[in-house]
Amino acid sequence: MHDQALRSIVIVGGGTAGWMTAAALAHAMPRGCAITLIESDEIGTVGVGEATIPPIRLFNETLGIAEADFLKNTKGSFKLGIEFVGWGGPDRRYFHPFGTHGKPFDLIAVHQHWLAARDSSPDGALPPLDALSMAWGAAKHGRFAAPVADPRSVASTFDYAYHFDAGLYAAFLRRYAEARGVARIEGKVLTAERDPLGGDIATVRLADGRALAGDFFVDCSGFRGLLIEGALATGYEDWTHWLPCDRAVAMPCVTGGDGMTPYTRSTARAAGWQWRIPLQHRTGNGYVYASAHVSDDEAAATLAANLDGPALGEPRFLRFVTGRRRKFWNRNVVAIGLAGGFMEPLESTSIHLIQAGIAKLLAYLPTRQPDPLAIDEYNRVAIAEFERIRDFLILHYKLNADRPEPMWRAAAAMSVPDTLAAKIEHFRARGRLVQRENDLFGAASWLAVHIGQGNLPQDLDPLLAYRADPAASGAFVTRLAAAIESMALSMPTHADWIKRIGARA
Ligand SMILES: Cc1cc2nc3c(=O)[nH]c(=O)nc-3n(C[C@H](O)[C@H](O)[C@H](O)COP(=O)(O)OP(=O)(O)OC[C@H]3O[C@@H](n4cnc5c(N)ncnc54)[C@H](O)[C@@H]3O)c2cc1C
Repeated sequence: MHDQALRSIVIVGGGTAGWMTAAALAHAMPRGCAITLIESDEIGTVGVGEATIPPIRLFNETLGIAEADFLKNTKGSFKLGIEFVGWGGPDRRYFHPFGTHGKPFDLIAVHQHWLAARDSSPDGALPPLDALSMAWGAAKHGRFAAPVADPRSVASTFDYAYHFDAGLYAAFLRRYAEARGVARIEGKVLTAERDPLGGDIATVRLADGRALAGDFFVDCSGFRGLLIEGALATGYEDWTHWLPCDRAVAMPCVTGGDGMTPYTRSTARAAGWQWRIPLQHRTGNGYVYASAHVSDDEAAATLAANLDGPALGEPRFLRFVTGRRRKFWNRNVVAIGLAGGFMEPLESTSIHLIQAGIAKLLAYLPTRQPDPLAIDEYNRVAIAEFERIRDFLILHYKLNADRPEPMWRAAAAMSVPDTLAAKIEHFRARGRLVQRENDLFGAASWLAVHIGQGNLPQDLDPLLAYRADPAASGAFVTRLAAAIESMALSMPTHADWIKRIGARA
């Protein structure tokens, strides 16, 4: 083994971030390095992250976790995307699907054909964009089945993620990590002591006086960022001027209404938005809001009045500052999870950012030798990943123009980052979906939000004039929508699929 290899890694924090990190490190480094996780039951976890995006499947697969086992242990359900209600105007609804809208069949994007046909069709004659998405086709009927591999089938054009109980996921990963040698210490970290010569963190000291030394530390201590901020004063970039929500109130309920839908719902409210995330045993709900525009009591009352079943428990309030650390990796500390930064759960990206942090940590695995090259690259990519997601979230706010409430009026009028302004202009000009390095969300995701929230192009792809005619484009999208509908109706219900694969809790 390399003589500078890490001998010990200390993870501070045992929420979703801490246990995902511990499990992944234990899997990737089965010998030669002691991995210890410290957590404090007294402090507890945030524990409200319940919706995810498709790459979570890769995380579980890499760790050798079977889907049915995972869903059973976390009381999880399937997620085909997010339905947005009241975004872009009080009466609008649209779906952000996992997967694509149809499949490109020539040089021109499917949505260009749809837009061309739409321009020449009478109102309501053409299926809506959502009808071209297999994910929505299945979701709106409460159906689910795994996508197929055959690229000729419309059932190959969607992807999926999960809803699950984050507390149960952390407990599940704890069992996984401990079985692979991770040592857990229950205790409260009070301080971190730095090496007087180099300035790196040398030990963390617990309230009971114990000191724990490590070669490398992963800060998973949540919003407080005990090491990255508390000990190293790394600094924080605040994005509240773009994403004004700074609080959330969460309240699970008995599943009612539309039942255990295979999708998340986000409903715009006067000063933020409400999530609805159905699991096997309950539905998670929360109102993410801006404290400048609504009081805690009003927010809780709005949430309570909009549950689709009896509440399970009292409202739980959370505060946050949207933004990121100036560096995610500073000296011998990397911050993963809320310790690194936070963006509201509008597109369910936080758990993904934990996964992305872990993947980068393994790609640039530290040694005891300082490695500025690795640290710089880690930070460059992590910052880009955060900023690209930030832009996608701001898009929803910027395009929520047809709402009368002061928060939304201010959001529609704000100036946005240049990186986002360019994307909005490209789409508005000719329906072009430009991508940037480290974009997490692909063209279909951006398309869904642009069209769903009314950012319609003024003109279309000039290539259309040479190779397509609107009648043929219209016939194509109509056939595609019919094929999707028929495939959706051949799928089992979401609940039946969970039962069929042995994933019922
Ligand atoms: C309102 C809201 C909704 C969300 N919804 C989603 C969602 O739908 N999808 C999604 O992907 N993400 C979501 N998230 C984010 C998600 O909850 C977090 O990314 C995830 O839970 C990871 O949190 P964490 O482990 O970083 O921090 P925490 O859960 O806060 O865990 C911190 C850990 O550090 C420990 N700790 C802290 N201080 C000390 C100390 N002094 N000594 C010892 N231990 C200490 C705590 O005990 C705990 O174990 C949401 C977040 C919020 C606020």
